[in-house]
Amino acid sequence: MDPVVVIGAGVSGLAAAWSLHRRGIPVKVVEADDQVGGVVRSTRLDDGTVLDLGPQTLSTKDPQLQETLQEVGLGSRTLAADPASGRRFVVHEGQVVELPSGPLSLARTPLLSTAAKFRLLGEPFRKGGVDAEGEPVDAEAESIADFVRRRLGPEVLDHMVDPFVSGVFAGDPEKISVAAALPELQALEREHGSIIRGGVKRMQAARKEQKAREEAGGTPEERPRNRILSFDEGLQSWPRAVADALGDQVHLSTRVVGLHRTEGEEGWEVRLQRTGDSTSEVIRARAVILAVPAEAAARLLKEMDGAVARALLEIPYAPVSVVHVVHPLTQVEHPLAGFGVLAPSGEGRGILGSLWPNAVFPGRNPSGQAVLANFVGGARHPERAMAEEEEILGMVRRELGDLLGLRGDPTHQRVTRWPEAIPQYTQGHLDRIREVARFEEAAPGIRLVGSWRDAVSLGGCWATGARVGTEVARTLG
Ligand SMILES: Cc1cc2nc3c(=O)[nH]c(=O)nc-3n(C[C@H](O)[C@H](O)[C@H](O)COP(=O)(O)OP(=O)(O)OC[C@H]3O[C@@H](n4cnc5c(N)ncnc54)[C@H](O)[C@@H]3O)c2cc1C
Repeated sequence: MDPVVVIGAGVSGLAAAWSLHRRGIPVKVVEADDQVGGVVRSTRLDDGTVLDLGPQTLSTKDPQLQETLQEVGLGSRTLAADPASGRRFVVHEGQVVELPSGPLSLARTPLLSTAAKFRLLGEPFRKGGVDAEGEPVDAEAESIADFVRRRLGPEVLDHMVDPFVSGVFAGDPEKISVAAALPELQALEREHGSIIRGGVKRMQAARKEQKAREEAGGTPEERPRNRILSFDEGLQSWPRAVADALGDQVHLSTRVVGLHRTEGEEGWEVRLQRTGDSTSEVIRARAVILAVPAEAAARLLKEMDGAVARALLEIPYAPVSVVHVVHPLTQVEHPLAGFGVLAPSGEGRGILGSLWPNAVFPGRNPSGQAVLANFVGGARHPERAMAEEEEILGMVRRELGDLLGLRGDPTHQRVTRWPEAIPQYTQGHLDRIREVARFEEAAPGIRLVGSWRDAVSLGGCWATGARVGTEVARTLG
């Protein structure tokens, strides 16, 4: 029986492949690179320190993903974030300031003026779905910045949401569509008229449900809690373990260079080329799941359907460089007791933020040094991500000196460039995704997944990949 071919062994592709494999459907995962994981990349230094060169943490409350971690043997290798790293910081007027974590700290935070705090308190009473003039807003055209200004006020945008958008999307909140990137926020407003009221109601409903379950004598199931995770050998342990469990169904250093429907029959022909080999071979597939970045997908689909290729090419990507510096703890004045610090664009810093993996996963850092993972570039300053290495390192050291009191020479430093790091869900994104869905309907047996589609986060990419894998498995009976 022909396998389902999954193109790309990033988290999206491996999730799809794993869903199919669990249901007994043969798969063939084809990956151009010589290792799995896509942008998930980890390494261990000689002194035992683990560095994640791309994403830093997996944030998930998906019970199925947690089940998969057990299935692929990662149960005892999973590390939960140290509770002390729950503190998060932002740069404010040149200082590192802790983000409020509850109503009391919000009332006291220097990040917002008293007027801004009162405006925030008024959010539940502000009419939903209308602008300042009372005109209905076009939900699909609204940017994150417009949405937050409208609901929570400009200071919340500038000092709290802008750095979050840099941290998650390496993006510009003025350009990213709220409907595409943060649909759950929009849903709260749509369903409850207010984000705060909606959030409180959801929390109450979940508590009520749990109480009812307990009263009915059912097992007091724990509400799925969000967990921030990594693994003993870094995040890449996860795709590596999934690939190991898939065994010889994963083919590395093999690029897909052509994709055609089998003439007169159901199924697909996939043309493969191995690294360093100029010849190519064609394999047959019952179905194909394309799990590659948008541009790579466009290249493979352009002959088949020019419109879907154009829609995919319209999805912009922001480049990011991840800059690691490792120093003895005594060379950093700041205690680094937290997740890290993000810089709002209005602060004019050279870095998007600095995360502190030594505090988040101390068990992975036997030398006890300060490990700082710094992010440079993004949609607003793509040129910075691609500057000369020495220039980037110099700038990062100056910024860390200024913000965290970092002194002396690092014991290790490295720049990892991601020229196409994070897809930007800019205005019109949902139209592009509808075009992709139209193509899938017109070409049964081919599905597309990837961080460009409906979630950038690792947990979101896994969820989409797993869902699509399950759907394909169902259609194959
Ligand atoms: C620097 C950085 C930091 C991040 N930080 C976080 C974080 O802390 N937490 C979080 O949740 N998310 C984070 N993200 C986002 C998250 O890591 C990504 O969105 C996600 O890993 C993307 O997975 P993917 O499988 O969709 O794509 P990719 O990882 O890009 O995988 C696509 C794969 O397809 C392969 N491929 C391409 N063309 C072909 C072809 N023709 N034939 C065969 N194979 C092909 C590629 O080699 C690649 O392996 C970060 C991303 C970056 C870049």
